Amino acid sequence: MIKVVKFGGSSLASATQFKKVKNIIDSDKDRIFIVASACGKSDNEDHKVTDLLYLCHAHIKFGVSYDDLFNMIYNKYMDIKKELHLEIDLEKEFKVIKNLMNKDISIDYLVSRGEYLTAKCLAEYLNGQFIDASEVISFNYDGKVNFERSEQNLRSKIENGRRVVIPGFYGALPNGTIKVMSRGGSDISGSILANIVNADVYENWTDVSGLLIADPRIVDNPETINYITYDELRELSYMGANIIHDEAIFPVSEKNIPINIRNTNKPEHPGTMILNDCSKQDAIKPPNFITGISGKKNFSVITVNKPQISREIGRLRKTLQVFEDFNISVESVPSGVDSFSVIVETEAIEKVIYEIIARLKKDLICDNVTVIDKIALIAVVGRGMKNKPGMSGLLFGQLGKNNINIRIINQAADEIDIIIGVDNADFEKTIRCIYNKFITRSALL
Ligand code: ASP
Repeated sequence: MIKVVKFGGSSLASATQFKKVKNIIDSDKDRIFIVASACGKSDNEDHKVTDLLYLCHAHIKFGVSYDDLFNMIYNKYMDIKKELHLEIDLEKEFKVIKNLMNKDISIDYLVSRGEYLTAKCLAEYLNGQFIDASEVISFNYDGKVNFERSEQNLRSKIENGRRVVIPGFYGALPNGTIKVMSRGGSDISGSILANIVNADVYENWTDVSGLLIADPRIVDNPETINYITYDELRELSYMGANIIHDEAIFPVSEKNIPINIRNTNKPEHPGTMILNDCSKQDAIKPPNFITGISGKKNFSVITVNKPQISREIGRLRKTLQVFEDFNISVESVPSGVDSFSVIVETEAIEKVIYEIIARLKKDLICDNVTVIDKIALIAVVGRGMKNKPGMSGLLFGQLGKNNINIRIINQAADEIDIIIGVDNADFEKTIRCIYNKFITRSALL
């Protein structure tokens, strides 16, 4: 079995965390490819190395001394080296970086040094082979990852029988220039690596024991999701549940490689397994009706009202064209006979709402266009809801009983999620009601 394991910044924030990582790696010989993030925060006073590096760059740009920031980074790695008795020549590594900082250092090169140094220290500590991400992860000039070339690069570098440690977050353009991914990009590096080595599983080690059914700031002690499909995860993350970088999904899902989200501080917890298809697991233990609940506040509903407007051919095209012209992404378009609405994030339309209303009135030849703000959308997601008559009845009944007024309802034909719109003020209460009804399973009986 081949496992690609990625450790996030909090898992590598201090020597103590490095020790936990070593125990995790040593306990499973299949954990062969290891991707490291830059050291994260070890406590509330501490700072993420990547943040400090971005700040150093800003200081260079504005001609302000970056010495204090640089020393914070230097001391962090020196502490790790000392406590783990490493031999790495950090003085030399930092000298190289500093020399470049005094010349014309590129921002990508500078901020990638957090992952580079963390992976170097980790490789020595694990007695593994360090391979620089700039020699493996290959980008085309258009910024897309070249999987074929990355695979060839990796194959030419691997020494058999050794674990491999690779920095996350960056790779190189064909001319060798370092290029970083978006923030949190080590998740993507792990996923690319899992793809190119055809891993059996991609373990993503972080500081939570997987994805929770609902936001713990809203529901007390929500349960962990044991199994979730990629489709369900996409729906939940779109509505705000973030556990892994969006761009980390595709490289593994296209090869049917599961992602296992695990907690470095609680390695015994199985975490959450993300799979293309959970039917094998579901046959052993049927899933909850609801896999997860997530949501976001502050949407606006723009309603166009005109008798028999549903008969007007082209009305949706004309409407959507208006939003496209203003570069605004539309969430959904619930329609009736005499009216239809367009739901968008309030922030996106705030500055142009009067122009949009004027355009809609003109293009649809209609006087009655209204806007309601402060709407929250909640996604109730679950493969267990599919083909289960009565699910929405139970859901809406529960909200009715609790005096929650539903402003919007939207369910796509794949039936894996129902989107409910309520007033912002009812957001938390709605999530709690749904959780209590469907996750406290006895409530269903
Ligand atoms: N260190 C980078 C960041 O903080 C990438 C990562 O941790 O995934 O965004």
